Amino acid sequence: MADKSSSIFELISDLRNELNQHNYNYYVLDKPTISDLEFDQKLKQLQDLEASNPEYFDVNSPTQRVGGTITKNFNTVTHENRMYSLENSYSKEDLIDWENRIQRILGNVAVAYVCELKYDGASISITYENGLLTKAVTRGDGFQGDDVTNNVKTIKSVPLKLKGNFPEKFDIRGEIILPIEGFEKMNAELIDIGETPYSNPRNTASGSLKLQDSAQVAKRPLDCLLYNIVGANNFFKTHETSLQAARNFGFKVPNESKLVKNMQEVFDFIAYWDTNRHHLPYEIDGIVIKVNDLFQQEELGYTAKNPRWAIAYKFKAEQAVTQLESISYQVGRTGAITPVANLQPVQLAGTIVKRASLHNADQIEKLDIRVGDTVFVEKGGEIIPKIVGVDTTKRTTNSNPTQYITHCPECNTALIRNEGEAQHYCPNFYECPPQIIGRIEHFISRKAMNIDGLGGETVALLVKNNLIVNYADLYQLTKAAILPLERMAEKSTDNLINGIEASKEIAFEKVLFALGIRFVGETVAKKLANHYKNIDALMQANYDDLVNVDEIGDKIALSIQSFFANDANVEIINRLKKYGLKFEIEAKENTQVSNKFDGLIMVVSGKFEHFSRDEIKEIIEANGGKNGSSITGKTSVVVAGLDMGPAKLEKATKLGIAIWNENEFIEKLNNI
Ligand code: AMP
Ligand code: ZN
Repeated sequence: MADKSSSIFELISDLRNELNQHNYNYYVLDKPTISDLEFDQKLKQLQDLEASNPEYFDVNSPTQRVGGTITKNFNTVTHENRMYSLENSYSKEDLIDWENRIQRILGNVAVAYVCELKYDGASISITYENGLLTKAVTRGDGFQGDDVTNNVKTIKSVPLKLKGNFPEKFDIRGEIILPIEGFEKMNAELIDIGETPYSNPRNTASGSLKLQDSAQVAKRPLDCLLYNIVGANNFFKTHETSLQAARNFGFKVPNESKLVKNMQEVFDFIAYWDTNRHHLPYEIDGIVIKVNDLFQQEELGYTAKNPRWAIAYKFKAEQAVTQLESISYQVGRTGAITPVANLQPVQLAGTIVKRASLHNADQIEKLDIRVGDTVFVEKGGEIIPKIVGVDTTKRTTNSNPTQYITHCPECNTALIRNEGEAQHYCPNFYECPPQIIGRIEHFISRKAMNIDGLGGETVALLVKNNLIVNYADLYQLTKAAILPLERMAEKSTDNLINGIEASKEIAFEKVLFALGIRFVGETVAKKLANHYKNIDALMQANYDDLVNVDEIGDKIALSIQSFFANDANVEIINRLKKYGLKFEIEAKENTQVSNKFDGLIMVVSGKFEHFSRDEIKEIIEANGGKNGSSITGKTSVVVAGLDMGPAKLEKATKLGIAIWNENEFIEKLNNI
């Protein structure tokens, strides 16, 4: 028995080490060595092993990264080492002043600096003891912050366990950021379900740290960039070597940091990044310059708020001044109204800007922005430019405050604004043209029904010619009806009809997403499809039932209910059913993970500890093997559970067939 359990523990700890290494390869080095699918399979295997061997639970196991703990109130904790702010500087003169002050204290010795990027996110202090992550705390007021350990652990680039020769105990400081690509993806998904997008990566990153459900944090593409080790008691002699050591321990310390010999080289570093910062995958708002020698740092010490040995150089936000020519209002597929500023074209950060989002009525009121105003426009990273202010001194005396529209610019219906929501809506769901077209465009989009041969312009054309008014009408289109339309040729018409026909094979979860129920995005649609299996069960679900489904909250439940309470929607669904679209999930498709068991015919028999028999069969097929139903001369391997009958055992032995017990099976699967 002792043997068996220690071999299980070994298996568990090998899997943990392996998964930690893969996380590091993927998230820190950006060089994955296995496929996502293989990773997921190993993670699942570890989860199962941990579930059936709870005595080996470890808070720092890679399985803990998926989150799931709920924190109602974050504990306030005192920082063992205070988190200081940084003094700011804006010019070469400021930096020369700073160097003179340093020289006065140190006595005119040579000072080398490390220049780093100033990452724009939320600061964090992470404590490691004996190589294990024990605590992660926000900056707070510098003396005390919030304990956000559970949330930080879900960030894959944060090591849970260190490598190499690390100090016994230390804090490491860094910035939790949201890379631009991840931020834009999150926003695209929000726009997809008719939600208001987030305003910038920094606020979204710091907001993420305070989410109550760590499983939600785990889903966000957050990253953590580290820049300072504190409390390591003379372990290092220079800042530069401590950064290099941190990289070796497994931390993500960007390689852009640079050791320089003098102030001129600091200026060069600043000049380089001022022009090249937009090529970085994340936003920075300046450069941080730090004295490299840690003895010199100690001699310099701190003011009441800042270290004397470091200073931030802030980039000027790239800003342009221009005129607001008009405000127009766009109507989205869910009826949400977005005001857009039309600007006199102006050059900004390498592009010409003509339009900027004004978000909503509150934003317009807050800026008190009026047509004809001189406005300041800013751009951060790749994100749509925003208006940050109005130069009221340039305003003509006869300008009037902007009156937000009261009626839909497309169909003239009176707008509504729900309590607690920032956006105005046009409630004319069925007749407002951009809503009709928007819903059909969403239905045919790549992530939904993926209808080839049909694009936004064609949809508008079909709607304009009264050939379709909703997406169910697509399935009644005929070649004869489409061909006479302008720009439609024989070939494009065939493509369109074939594309529509092919969409009948699209899986239920995508059909559900395609329906365009407000707040039901891709992930939620998948959850609902897997839970309810078919549309009828979903339509019959009551509110309590819906909110009991993992990740379905109040807002989504109410939206689903109101969608199905509408007879017109039910009628459309009935028509789609009649046309043959899939409204139930199909038997699980095979997902090929590896070809380890290629060519093997395997028979699974008996009961297993860590898997059900079906799970083992699934794993066999996913790894290229075939499942045989009984032991014959063709069988290659028998996977034998605990209570496999003696007759079968005898038969297999007689035929000279390999027999693997459960552990051997797991070992073979992992090539151990
Ligand atoms: P500020 O918030 O403007 O006072 O700037 C100080 C903050 O800059 C620190 O609290 C850090 O969170 C952040 N920061 C970003 N990058 C760095 C870096 N490379 N070194 C030190 N602090 C940084
Ligand atoms: Zn309208």
